[in-house]
Amino acid sequence: MNNHPHPPILTPVQFVKGVGPKIAKLLEKANIFTAEDLLYTIPRRYEDRSKIPSIIDIQPNTTSTIKGRVLHSEIKKTKNGIPIARVMISDGTGKIWLSWFNQPWHIKKLTNYSGEIIAYGTVRESTYELFLEMNNPDWEILDSSETNTDFAQITPIYPLTEGLTNKTMRKIILNALETYAHFISDPLPQSILSKYHLTDLKSAIYNIHHPESIEVANTSRKRIALEEFLYLQLGLTLQRLHLEKEKGVTQIIPNNLLQDIQKHLPFELTNAQKKVIQEIWKDMEKSSPMNRLVQGDVGSGKTMVAFSAMLAAVKNGYQVALMAPTEILAQQHADNLQKRFSDFGFEVGLLLGKMKKKERSTLLDKIACGLLPVIIGTHALIQDTVSFHKLGLAVIDEQHRFGVLQRAKLYEKSSIKPDVLVMTATPIPRTLTMAFYGDLDISIIDELPAGRKPIVTHFKRFSEQRTVFSGVKKLLDEGRQAYFICPLIEESEKLQAKAATELYDLLSEKIFPEKNIGLLHSQMKKEEKEEIMEQFRRHDLDILVSTVVIEVGVDVPNASIMVIMDANRFGLSQLHQLRGRVGRGEHQSFCVLMADVNYGESRDRLDIMVQTNDGFKIAEEDLRIRGPGEIMGVRQSGEIEFRVADLVQDADMVEVCKKLLSEILGNDIQESKQKFPDIYSKLDRKKLRLNYATIS
Ligand code: ADP
Ligand code: MG
Repeated sequence: MNNHPHPPILTPVQFVKGVGPKIAKLLEKANIFTAEDLLYTIPRRYEDRSKIPSIIDIQPNTTSTIKGRVLHSEIKKTKNGIPIARVMISDGTGKIWLSWFNQPWHIKKLTNYSGEIIAYGTVRESTYELFLEMNNPDWEILDSSETNTDFAQITPIYPLTEGLTNKTMRKIILNALETYAHFISDPLPQSILSKYHLTDLKSAIYNIHHPESIEVANTSRKRIALEEFLYLQLGLTLQRLHLEKEKGVTQIIPNNLLQDIQKHLPFELTNAQKKVIQEIWKDMEKSSPMNRLVQGDVGSGKTMVAFSAMLAAVKNGYQVALMAPTEILAQQHADNLQKRFSDFGFEVGLLLGKMKKKERSTLLDKIACGLLPVIIGTHALIQDTVSFHKLGLAVIDEQHRFGVLQRAKLYEKSSIKPDVLVMTATPIPRTLTMAFYGDLDISIIDELPAGRKPIVTHFKRFSEQRTVFSGVKKLLDEGRQAYFICPLIEESEKLQAKAATELYDLLSEKIFPEKNIGLLHSQMKKEEKEEIMEQFRRHDLDILVSTVVIEVGVDVPNASIMVIMDANRFGLSQLHQLRGRVGRGEHQSFCVLMADVNYGESRDRLDIMVQTNDGFKIAEEDLRIRGPGEIMGVRQSGEIEFRVADLVQDADMVEVCKKLLSEILGNDIQESKQKFPDIYSKLDRKKLRLNYATIS
């Protein structure tokens, strides 16, 4: 591991001056365990408190730092009995109130104090008073014997865990800097730092907590972000090289299967599908493992592409696995692929979390000894009990739901390094794929199957709901099925379920009493959900009332209309994914966006949806509106959390990281390890913390 078993920078956070066991507990909740972690706790933002205007010059509705002598303090109560603590201060030019709502403790220290204090906050016109009032300010007694860390400078605002104030964070981070900053050594040699114009690590860390200017703070963050990218990339690369070397790679010769596949299909593969299939097969034939991302809009037929890749591997004697993000999807894939594979005489197994013990262990045995060539499943596939005999290809559907580490786990379960195929409906900016996956080849299915009628999308107000309902009724009478999507309530799953139930009641009792209606929401048990989904698929149900649980991948071609209630609450990509559930069969399909919005960003989103069916255009708009972090589903996977890096602001560092990485790696790992020992020992430490599977 490391030359120094206990480098001082890894001192448990408890022993940093000003911390102690109580605060350490709180910090641990935020994953801060050592002095180093504390130093790497990056401010969420900064407030420029460097200028102190005279009180007389202060304008209402501005935020500033003020300084003055305490004249008077008091506690008032609101009508409801909530205390408001108030202090009047003066700097000789004017007077101003500081007030704290329901935080009476602020006043304690100030009751008998008549010296100077300094405060930072937003100033408002006071309702009853002549003087302006600063609401809920940060403040500190000005005491010449102490440094005033929070004021009269660019002040860092840290992410907080419950029980910790920014004041405390600033103080202990300052202490940590004083004691430990000089133990920070930059793992990157000077030659590399100058070549890429990088700040050295120690200055970067110092400056991120105490920047002279916002610009300095930004370049410092970029430097640290680069480090973060670098270790992730280096870790992933080493892992890949290790697996390739230890385990060997696949030898797959597709042997022009295309005609054979086509022969068994009820439809003609699109040119885009054929093109992507060939790209994949070419990769699989190579002696280095495939690492490819397939992007294709909803309904573009990614499953057939996956099938073609899987078939080639299976025909060459390998096992293949397909991992889907939900049980419903895994089940659906299994149903579809079973049909396809049986044409070629291969068996398909389905592994789900909910299986009975016995059933499960029989299945696991079959997988382990190689009797089962095709395995489809959810996260259950990456559990410890699963091992493959000879996994040659891993397919991951709707990749943004899985973290990079989860996928890595799947590859390790095989005796060889499998080819990897990742499928997504969400176009991902290049820099982002690089930050997350290293180098990944990309294929795009840029064509929908022929004869698909573009979905017609309407925007309707609630006052027009009668027309909407009668439109739905007409389609149902023609034998089609309909989705109703409930308003999105992000704050609470319970409220969400309630909204869904209310919509269900309304539709089944008042609007469509003669139709069969099912309800699907996230508070239901998995089995219930799957049963309802299955009933809808079998057309036992005419209408499915659902929350967004059906968002991804569900395929019921007879469903030709979707009504989305309060559509303005959804994000663009989400709306597009949802809408993609219709328009999958031969019937003209419709999507109705119900909302009462006249203008603004949410109205813009709905207009984009009405104007276009093009997922790439929609993704572009979405990226513009929301930024890439959200799109990658970073929150969903919750696994790779960059502590420092901001994927929007620091995207340029991904490019730098790529260059840096190839410079560090060179042609030979052993050589590289000798040349850059500090980098590798730091990686070791990170690896332990991140619990990487087995990077070596
Ligand atoms: P997605 O890319 O969203 O995963 P699917 O693979 O689920 O799309 O395919 C959507 C539907 O289109 C399925 O019902 C599938 O059988 C059908 N399909 C796939 N390829 C074609 C094709 N070339 N022509 C017609 N229908 C197709
Ligand atoms: Mg799909």
